[in-house]
Amino acid sequence: MEKTDIKSLTKDELTQKIKEMGEPGFRAGQIYDWMHKKQAVSFEEMTNLSKNLREKLNEECVLTALKVTRVQESQIDGTRKYLFALADGNLIESVFMKYRFGNSVCVSSQVGCRMGCRFCASTIDGVERNLRASEILDQIYSIMRDTGEKISRVVVMGSGEPLDNYDEILRFVKLLTDENGLNLGQRNLTISTCGIVPNMKRLADEKLQINLAISLHASNQKKRQELMPIANKYSMEELLDACRYYFDKTGRQLTFEYSLVGGVNDSREDADELAGLLKDLNCVVNLIPVNPIKERDYVESTREKVLAFQHKLEERKINATVRREMGRDIDGACGQLRRRHLEDMKGD
Ligand code: SAH
Repeated sequence: MEKTDIKSLTKDELTQKIKEMGEPGFRAGQIYDWMHKKQAVSFEEMTNLSKNLREKLNEECVLTALKVTRVQESQIDGTRKYLFALADGNLIESVFMKYRFGNSVCVSSQVGCRMGCRFCASTIDGVERNLRASEILDQIYSIMRDTGEKISRVVVMGSGEPLDNYDEILRFVKLLTDENGLNLGQRNLTISTCGIVPNMKRLADEKLQINLAISLHASNQKKRQELMPIANKYSMEELLDACRYYFDKTGRQLTFEYSLVGGVNDSREDADELAGLLKDLNCVVNLIPVNPIKERDYVESTREKVLAFQHKLEERKINATVRREMGRDIDGACGQLRRRHLEDMKGD
């Protein structure tokens, strides 16, 4: 019989499981507390449970935990990039960022990715597997243990496409924002998607207050198709309709991510066209100078181009921010550290 992934269970499901094990229901509260408030990594740590119960838990359940494989700390801004090993040996990346308003963690949702965006390192070898809710939570919990810091914002913007792993992501959202656990405010959680239209609508219908970020990266269908294969599946029109739907259902302002690639999507005309596209949406555009990866020949836009692009959008009354480039000295972009590590291992 496969062991139960206990950290992925909601409190109600855990209570049921504990009762099935012949234990009183209040034990579930204690275990839930150990996992989600105290970030325990083993049943042995749960000292207010009897030895007998801890042994039974070990027999019937697994408590996932990540192994820190590599940490790189930026000398520029204190960003810490973690490479974690999962129980099956797969590697994932997460990032810890310090801002004036608090600490953020960026988590991965899959091992690898199958979306194929042209400039992204995570997708080069495709997807290995989905992460479980517990494994997504573990990235935050491990970083809390390692840094001893509180986390006030979480973004699902690491490797993987969260809406390609819908059920586990939704479970993760519920556990992370549960008042019996870390109790993160839903408004402090952002999910970033390349635009899987049906699942954006599904998410809108969940009646949550989480933020949605959409990786747009182009101002028209043709250019988007060149950069992002997902555009062949869902047109720009369908994507923007789904964005409108998300806003109508949740009232949350949308974020559009736009990675500026030198000579590809960074001209004034591109900015103008983008402004036209977004004019009736309540949104902010987050401009990200592309982080060049060695497997592709895309180049970063110049500082002047980035600022001119921002200026053009603002002239046309579209809010636009330029993302502070955190951790550029430490393989900050999606999937870069994992690739680097795997290549180093091959070279050994
Ligand atoms: N799959 C999700 C989340 C992962 S990536 C999504 O597509 O939104 C988080 C953001 O970083 C996305 O906007 C992605 O397109 C962007 N990104 C990936 N690699 C990049 C790179 N090398 N330079 C700049 N942005 C990159």
